[in-house]
Amino acid sequence: MGKSLFTLSDLPAEEIVSIIDRAMMFCQGIDIPNFSDKIACNLFFEPSTRTQYSFNVAEVRLGMRVISFNPAASSLNKAESFYDTVKTFDSFGPDAIVIRHSENEYYKQLEGYINAAILNGGDGTGNHPTQSLLDLMTIKQEFGHFEGLKCVIAGDISHSRVAHTDYEVMRRLGMEVVTAGPDFFLEDSLKQEDFDSAVKTSDIVMMLRVQHERHASHMAMTAEEYHRAYGLTLEREKTMKDKAIIMHPAPVNRGVELADSLMECPRARIFKQMSNGVFVRMAVLERGVL
Ligand code: ASP
Repeated sequence: MGKSLFTLSDLPAEEIVSIIDRAMMFCQGIDIPNFSDKIACNLFFEPSTRTQYSFNVAEVRLGMRVISFNPAASSLNKAESFYDTVKTFDSFGPDAIVIRHSENEYYKQLEGYINAAILNGGDGTGNHPTQSLLDLMTIKQEFGHFEGLKCVIAGDISHSRVAHTDYEVMRRLGMEVVTAGPDFFLEDSLKQEDFDSAVKTSDIVMMLRVQHERHASHMAMTAEEYHRAYGLTLEREKTMKDKAIIMHPAPVNRGVELADSLMECPRARIFKQMSNGVFVRMAVLERGVL
């Protein structure tokens, strides 16, 4: 059985750091393995641009052969279950199966029944381990360490698997993490701070997308009102610390959680995060199939 990655909370801090270090080597073109005898299946049951296609690029960079899956044209339409779909792909004998699904902890029903390494590309509002790894890689490139850095994660916290994963792992690595945003998006169990004061004192300002597709009802606020009250506006950006950076897992609602022109401003690391996604996914694939 391959080495699966369901959540980062399953991994000790040293292993998380060693995956990031390996990704940094790949980023420099060092020691890239050749897995031309290995096959990866990418099963995305939820829409995805970055995670799906950067896994794809990572697989290609490792020389793997890649099978992609289109749920709309599959036997899911004949009422085949999620479990039977994954088990079917596993019976073809791939080395790795990357899965994204809208159900939290979907992987629990697969554990012990699948031979390939299962790599979690996001489960509902639960976990997004490779996103957090690429966030951490971006932070390490920028600051060289984690200990003592402050990160504010702001916006739609309760629907964000990125916020949930980052919050846990960043704290474990010695960072101070606070959340900010409208009350209806915050969670009591996570440390909260006033957004304006957090923006001024953080090394990393991480903005989140308002995830309308996961909301049970419409938000009682226009996009402009949201931007003014909880978005990273041009005025708020000016109050950030000199060396502080802006991150966002994307897709970005430009002009809502983030002022349009901040997306590619000198502090923004959003496209850098995307580039790093390829390297951390290479490292996770290597760990999975070796
Ligand atoms: N791309 C991230 C995710 O899949 C964040 C988002 O969709 O807003 O969770």
